Amino acid sequence: MPHTRSTILLLAASAVMACARTAVLAPVGTTAAITPADLRLRLTAFAADSMMGRAAGSIWDQQATDYIANQFARLGLLPGGEKGTFFQVVPNVRPRNTTEHAAARNVIAIFPGTDPALRGEYVSITAHNDHIGFSRFGVDHDSLRAFNTVVRPQGADSPVRDPTPDEARRVRQILDSLRRVHPPRLDSIYNGADDDGSGTIALIEIAEAFAKGNAKPRRSILFVSHTAEEEGLVGSSWFTDHPTIPIDSIVAEIDVDMIGRGSARDIEGGGPTYLEVVGLRRLSNELGDWFEAVNAKEPLPFVFNYEYDAPGHPEQYYCRADHYSYARYGTPSVSLSRGEHMDYHQVTDEAQYIDYPDYARLTKMVFDAALFIADAGHAPRLDAPKPTNPHVPCRQ
Ligand SMILES: [Zn+2]
Repeated sequence: MPHTRSTILLLAASAVMACARTAVLAPVGTTAAITPADLRLRLTAFAADSMMGRAAGSIWDQQATDYIANQFARLGLLPGGEKGTFFQVVPNVRPRNTTEHAAARNVIAIFPGTDPALRGEYVSITAHNDHIGFSRFGVDHDSLRAFNTVVRPQGADSPVRDPTPDEARRVRQILDSLRRVHPPRLDSIYNGADDDGSGTIALIEIAEAFAKGNAKPRRSILFVSHTAEEEGLVGSSWFTDHPTIPIDSIVAEIDVDMIGRGSARDIEGGGPTYLEVVGLRRLSNELGDWFEAVNAKEPLPFVFNYEYDAPGHPEQYYCRADHYSYARYGTPSVSLSRGEHMDYHQVTDEAQYIDYPDYARLTKMVFDAALFIADAGHAPRLDAPKPTNPHVPCRQ
């Protein structure tokens, strides 16, 4: 998720550094089923320090998009990008922190539907492959985490301020307990494990579940990994403005961004069933009904939190997630997230802090919802006419 305006200034004022480079391991030995172990294996590689924070337009986001395309290819999905490739180049994206410049790319893959009458329609599942790069200066990982636990529970979306004396004591206590486990260590890479490594790896796991499993969806499943979300939904805007399949053939879009946390430690009111749902009923109540029905049949259903969908909500989530690029074209779309946390847009957003069992349950629910929509007798009905101008400013 991109920063709000106020936090962009803070980020610009904060700093950058050097780091170890190791080869990205291609995980092997994953299974058809969506499991916590598969998600951990893939996410640990994708959010490794060697990926350098995957800033859009950097060689490291290029490396990340190579990985995603390779996974789709290995699974036998069809390329859905430009010129028979899995890629769509998004122009004019300048990388943060570096002059080493590479193409910013959306990655697009298709799992074809089985019904000749419906396979030209798509259920789209999306996430973003980029994050915010790295800093030129290191900070002590555990000190930052202890401080944010107490003072900045929403990470970069919490204001920077001095702790009260009582808060300073609690920071010290947390840090002391962390110091018993680790010596101080400098960190400078925004790994983006949750944001949006979690959504990216969910796409790959869902693709694997379709490719290796028994489901035979009638409509096709479209996987789109957007780039440059952190620069302001740039990749999803480009894809929907320049779609590689007809935009009206996408009957629904499900965006997953930051789906790896959400426990009671991470967010007020959090827990195994916590789920923030934005946009779901704005264009199609029927899509909302379907989603809720699928969720209700899960072994442990999620409790949908619609708070951030409220018109005028100051956090502006409706306008800050890639689903909006589709909604503005009248495509019923939803943004799913397990919420912000102390590591949001911090160098501490690492794979070690992900809550894998709940992340796996949510990934499975998204698979089930996509399959349900792909098999439905009709596309979700729109409650209002399609917007006439997709380029008006977004309104929460
Ligand atoms: Zn983000």
